[in-house]
Amino acid sequence: MINPFETPERKAFRETLVNFVEKEMRPYAHDWDEAGEVPWEFHEKAGALGLWGFGVDEKFGGLGFDDAFMRAAAAEEFAKCGAGGVPAAIGGRGISIAPIEWFATEEIKDRCLADIVAGRKGSSLGITEPGGGSDVARMKTNAKPDGNHWVINGSKTFITGGMTSDYFVIGARTGDAGLAGISLFFVEADTPGFSRTPLKKKMGWWASDQATLYFDDVRVPAENMLGQQDHGFIAIMNNFNLERLGLIAGCLGMMKVCLEDSIEWAQQRETFGKPLIKHQVIRHKIADMSARIDATEAYMNMICYQINEGEMPVAEISKAKFFATKNAEFCASEAMQILGGAGYLRGNRVENAYREVKVMAIGGGSEEIMRDLAVRQMGL
Ligand SMILES: Cc1cc2nc3c(=O)[nH]c(=O)nc-3n(C[C@H](O)[C@H](O)[C@H](O)COP(=O)(O)OP(=O)(O)OC[C@H]3O[C@@H](n4cnc5c(N)ncnc54)[C@H](O)[C@@H]3O)c2cc1C
Repeated sequence: MINPFETPERKAFRETLVNFVEKEMRPYAHDWDEAGEVPWEFHEKAGALGLWGFGVDEKFGGLGFDDAFMRAAAAEEFAKCGAGGVPAAIGGRGISIAPIEWFATEEIKDRCLADIVAGRKGSSLGITEPGGGSDVARMKTNAKPDGNHWVINGSKTFITGGMTSDYFVIGARTGDAGLAGISLFFVEADTPGFSRTPLKKKMGWWASDQATLYFDDVRVPAENMLGQQDHGFIAIMNNFNLERLGLIAGCLGMMKVCLEDSIEWAQQRETFGKPLIKHQVIRHKIADMSARIDATEAYMNMICYQINEGEMPVAEISKAKFFATKNAEFCASEAMQILGGAGYLRGNRVENAYREVKVMAIGGGSEEIMRDLAVRQMGL
């Protein structure tokens, strides 16, 4: 499909990504997923691409510019590697970087940001709690002032990269109940009182670790508060928008994989004396998948354009997220039907997409919450 927003720089960046995914990811992604981890050296290769450098100052190893199209291209191309756990392991770290860049002191940035951006060290975002993830305003983890420190108590769960990250951006209650009493904090994993346990036996995202984090009188210096006291909710919501863009793009990548692998299979597989692709029912599936891909891509591109123009189109992002997850679910299901029994065998990209679409519909704001937010943005 024609992309009116294409530029030579974006084209070149995507070509770099495509080559990287083909050479550095596709041959290994399935094995990494089965093994349950991505080798740490791969983080550094991803860091060298600039994936964690969007919007980050060059003095911290960042790109010195931001571009929503390039962010989306990275998430889309990585999603084509064939094992959802691998882009999750990489992209999951990215969602903690913007709050550090936006709010951390120069001292924290000097000490930590360059390592995070380069992939030498990991960082994670901790918002969800055992008591719930959708209703962020009811967060229970709390931080109390003590001299020039804050003392954090509570717990976070489902935290991507939580077992392997060195740094965390977490939300904690510093004020009254509700959304106006939440602040963000930068917490280092070696701080006394911090501990973590892995979430095991997940449906998917095997190569990406998720953890429950425990804060037991964790003392952090006052300067570790990110942004203004009690204003963390807005920052969390702003950050969610970028995460959601990545998830929309990831769904798009998964859909394209489903279409590509379906076409390839349908062209070579013969049933009832002719290739599958010549059967009308299969042709209609291909048409339906292709139309949903085009619609998702066009929607996403408009959102990228608006973000680059300095807007944050919350309603469109919310709608595009559930639109993308529903379309990804559709494409994964149709592709599985086209591949038949071959699709059911572990190790192919369609089987992986079918298994991984669910987490896209839950993480970063579930389909229900996205619909709710979209309607609220309509003033209803
Ligand atoms: C693999 C994985 C990785 C994750 N990584 C991170 C991470 O790095 N950091 C982080 O902070 N969190 C992370 N999460 C958590 C994720 O953001 C939450 O799972 C999500 O926000 C939903 O929260 P919940 O699971 O507590 O569901 P709940 O909030 O308990 O909701 C349960 C169900 O009810 C629905 N629901 C809730 N309220 C309503 C309503 N008012 N109306 C209708 N339906 C409603 C929800 O949509 C959901 O389907 C991750 C989750 C997974 C599965």
